[in-house]
Amino acid sequence: MTDLLAEFRQFLLRERELFGETLLIETQPRGTPPVAARRHAAPAPEEPGLFKEPPPARTAEPWGTAATLDEFNAAICTCMKCPLGATRTKFVFGVGNPHATLMLIGEAPGADEDAQGEPFVGRAGQLLNKILEAIGFRREEVYICNILKCRPPGNRKPAAEEVDQCIPYLRKQIALVRPKLILCLGLTAAENLLQTSESLGKLRGKILQYEETPLMVTYHPAALLRNPNWKRPAWEDVQAARKLHDELVAKGDA
Ligand code: URA
Repeated sequence: MTDLLAEFRQFLLRERELFGETLLIETQPRGTPPVAARRHAAPAPEEPGLFKEPPPARTAEPWGTAATLDEFNAAICTCMKCPLGATRTKFVFGVGNPHATLMLIGEAPGADEDAQGEPFVGRAGQLLNKILEAIGFRREEVYICNILKCRPPGNRKPAAEEVDQCIPYLRKQIALVRPKLILCLGLTAAENLLQTSESLGKLRGKILQYEETPLMVTYHPAALLRNPNWKRPAWEDVQAARKLHDELVAKGDA
């Protein structure tokens, strides 16, 4: 059994303690690479023609010249471009390593995130931390943010107009962090970044591309809490993402 699998078993035990569920029912035979990892042998984007060309990252906005994440956050944290500015408690910019090689993108802050001003700090965030730990990342090592910076009331799905106003902020964050790999958590992140209406099922298990950056898609942690059956495919996704990430980092270092 690999070290990773052993670590993941520990993860499952802790998971069961917390949520009374298991992520994996059975394990792979010794030496068998996970299905998703086999599918991701080559880090070349697949099916780029599926997606519309995203709009350019350049902007005439005053924050366009921000050279660091802190400077950028200071420039936009009082944003009132959409109605969510008036209902938020805190603006949830993003958190983590400003030079992260892996960037995780979720949907929008929930109640806990709105109260604390940090993404993924509620129950879904705790599961995300464990998933990261299971593939050998500490939360502080990666960069975590959302499509929207402010909480939609009642945790409803972001409205198109809200995304239109907010997504330039995310595009600028990506340009500042310059991750080697983006991992979209859930369909909202993927469909808005890739400008696609494909299903999550079609987008998972592929190496896609946001501008120059390889991108993969997996389930949102909140969806995993609701549907434990998706935890196994999610585990395959994140293992594949870890493998691709390491290949991309190694390629960059060479
Ligand atoms: N769900 C998200 O998509 N983002 C968060 O920050 C928290 C929950």
